[in-house]
Amino acid sequence: MSIIDLRSDTVTLPTQAMREAIFNADLGDDVFTEDLTINRLEAMTAERLGMEAALLVVSGTMGNATCMLTHCARGEEAILGDCSHIFLNEAGGMSALGGVFPHTVPNLPDGTMRLDQIEAAIRSENIHFPRTRLICLENTHNRCYGAALTPDYTAAVVKLAKSQGIFVHLDGARIFNAAITLGVDVRELTRGIDSVNVCLSKGLAAPVGSVICGNGKFIARARRIRKMLGGGMRQAGIIAAAGIVALEEMVERLAEDHTNARRLAEGISTIQGLATEPDRVRTNILYIDLINRRFTDDEFMARLKENGVLLSHPGPARFRMLTHHGIGEADIETAIEALRTVMKT
Ligand SMILES: *Cc1c(COP(=O)(O)O)cnc(C)c1O
Repeated sequence: MSIIDLRSDTVTLPTQAMREAIFNADLGDDVFTEDLTINRLEAMTAERLGMEAALLVVSGTMGNATCMLTHCARGEEAILGDCSHIFLNEAGGMSALGGVFPHTVPNLPDGTMRLDQIEAAIRSENIHFPRTRLICLENTHNRCYGAALTPDYTAAVVKLAKSQGIFVHLDGARIFNAAITLGVDVRELTRGIDSVNVCLSKGLAAPVGSVICGNGKFIARARRIRKMLGGGMRQAGIIAAAGIVALEEMVERLAEDHTNARRLAEGISTIQGLATEPDRVRTNILYIDLINRRFTDDEFMARLKENGVLLSHPGPARFRMLTHHGIGEADIETAIEALRTVMKT
């Protein structure tokens, strides 16, 4: 039996075209900015996102940390969603590595934060307060069912930030999923943003790497922070080569993952004992709740595994599934049937 692995879109393997690109890549020492393949990936990503400059980093976590530390000095504050990946899933790096103070604002189910709540969180000038330096957005929003932030919402946050003289960082790990589902150019989602992190190793299926973008000065400073974090790589064109293929060949097909995720959620919503919200599924992420508690979470996962399906377990009685390259329509039907079988036993 083959395993249908829906734990994450990070389980995707490099395509044949990526493997060939890796094999043939022009390489050099990137700390001297002499790796031609990295230079090409960085230029391409900046152009694609409508930003001035870009920098390849090892992971999304390193990309976010590099941006936070570039924007903020120790003791300065960043406003971010209470369900954001940076707040929940990056080992507290912003504080541990940068001394950056997190100020959370509640995320709404659509991945936004209320503008009046963001505004209220921005500190006035007072020696008792940390200085607010940054607002962080996440698009798509991982914990909020992969919700996509719209260009209008993004523009409203940018406007608020500019009026207060603070920066906006976008955790765009899955920014292309957002652009595809909204049917907009990805530049619409980065306009006015000071920095963005985009992952090549999620649904775009590259084996390693994220790229951060900002203006030229920002990226020059970020290069030093990346070095400090241990991310100064050498002939990392072998990573960038796959990243170039990811940007050229793997973006448009994300629409298939979105269709598959919606179909999966619709199927699951007909199974007794499970709850999901198909109408919230706009990209490749969905959550399911085990409402019939005849077995424990671990038993549920073990039974599902015996039936060939893997999912992740973000909280009590709550599970997450992601569709991705390598998961086809037939796999979706098989996964729904496996869930149905498990819930009948
Ligand atoms: C995966 C993810 C990251 C971090 O990327 P890694 O490469 O796993 O470090 C950051 N933000 C979001 C929203 C993510 O889903």
